[in-house]
Amino acid sequence: MSVVTRFAPSPTGYLHIGGARTALFNWLYARHHGGTFLLRIEDTDRARSTQAAVDAIIDGLSWLGLTWDGDAVSQFERRERHAEVAHAMLAEGKAYRCYCSPAELETMREEQKAAGLPMRYDGRWRDRDASEAPAGVAPVIRLKAPREGETVLQDKVQGEVRVQNSQLDDMVLLRADGTPTYMLSVVVDDQDMGVTQVIRGDDHLTNTFRQLQIYQAMGWTPPDFAHIPLIHGPDGAKLSKRHGALGAEAYRDLGYLPEALRNYLLRLGWGHGDDEIISTEDAIAWFNLEGIGRSPSRMDYAKLDNLNGHYIRLADDDRLVGLISPRLVTALGRDLGDAERDVLRRAMPGLKQRAKTLVELAAGAQFYVTARPLPLDEKATQLLSADARAQLAVIAGRLKNAPDWTAATLEGIVRAYAEEAGLKLGKVAQPLRAALSGSTVSPPIFEVAEVLGRDETLARIGDVAGGV
Ligand code: GLU
Repeated sequence: MSVVTRFAPSPTGYLHIGGARTALFNWLYARHHGGTFLLRIEDTDRARSTQAAVDAIIDGLSWLGLTWDGDAVSQFERRERHAEVAHAMLAEGKAYRCYCSPAELETMREEQKAAGLPMRYDGRWRDRDASEAPAGVAPVIRLKAPREGETVLQDKVQGEVRVQNSQLDDMVLLRADGTPTYMLSVVVDDQDMGVTQVIRGDDHLTNTFRQLQIYQAMGWTPPDFAHIPLIHGPDGAKLSKRHGALGAEAYRDLGYLPEALRNYLLRLGWGHGDDEIISTEDAIAWFNLEGIGRSPSRMDYAKLDNLNGHYIRLADDDRLVGLISPRLVTALGRDLGDAERDVLRRAMPGLKQRAKTLVELAAGAQFYVTARPLPLDEKATQLLSADARAQLAVIAGRLKNAPDWTAATLEGIVRAYAEEAGLKLGKVAQPLRAALSGSTVSPPIFEVAEVLGRDETLARIGDVAGGV
């Protein structure tokens, strides 16, 4: 049987990090098995579901590269089908109409509470004849759940989990206004969509027993279930906004690459030996449910940064220029010209060695495309003493005659000068760095000079050393 998984977010907010990981696991499982990965928007809570949240989820999944097969399914659009199943259960005697008024249910609960009993619907309409129905009360449809025995789940992560059926009451399938409940909708959708494997957060574990009862009543074969432990914050407490729990798009804005976030999310709860860096290709080849851990994983932002740095170094230079350009345009307040993009492309192999995020990469690249005269930061200004400026004027005179404009040649010229002047290379190179980059940190300075080119390099030196 071909594997079918699904991601079923409720569109009540952005695609949070836990949801993104659930989506990733389902996507990997489907891709590993050459199966199908479906997207179902669980938008039945009309008061809390918004189109903006649907858009944010779709946007987040697309950015992460978790492409689903076919069109996204709206659960709300399928409500008539859900109701039809409730009526089919009614017709088969697997469900019944309950005419309890809200006030009556409230009294039942109060009594149970006073008696120290668990609060559950007591099944009072289970075997009552419809002729006893009170006038003017719209009934709900409840599942006639088994009262004896137990419901057993063979969970792929949690192992065998059992619940006594006496612990579960007859749940509502269809409300008095004819709308289906969440529990019914999920089961009918998973059945109709042919889902074979449900991978979701373990906060859904208790729902699963109720859902299994619906499968049983309908005579349907349930999918396999894998309930994954939740993600905790670095301090071990349940992940919340306090920990900087953000939507997927926020990670994009913070300068993370989707492949880095995929690798990070994969390791957040799944392991393959000691491997930390796992390409998406390997992830697809290796993913299995056995590798999912049973204890909650903790967010580790330093690890995410390190992975991101790794994927930045691997990324194609043109792509990186494209990714940082909008940030540079904003920082400079103007568009970038073709020549500037070309400089960035040539600078990229050096720039990408140091950056952990695209924000850092853009910041590190900015001096290449800043218009002269370059603003100097405080340390650069201090470095550029009168002596240093005078040295730079001499160096510029020699660089002007460089036979070719490569980092190696330029370094040779500056080294020769330093030796003659009895100075350490650093003493000469640091002011040069200040002149060319406006700061005291940059990629290797001769590489910077090579990328800037002869005219721009000499002009930048001239700006601090006087006309050369
Ligand atoms: N809509 C549920 C949620 O967002 C997921 C339901 C499921 O995966 O079965 O938590």
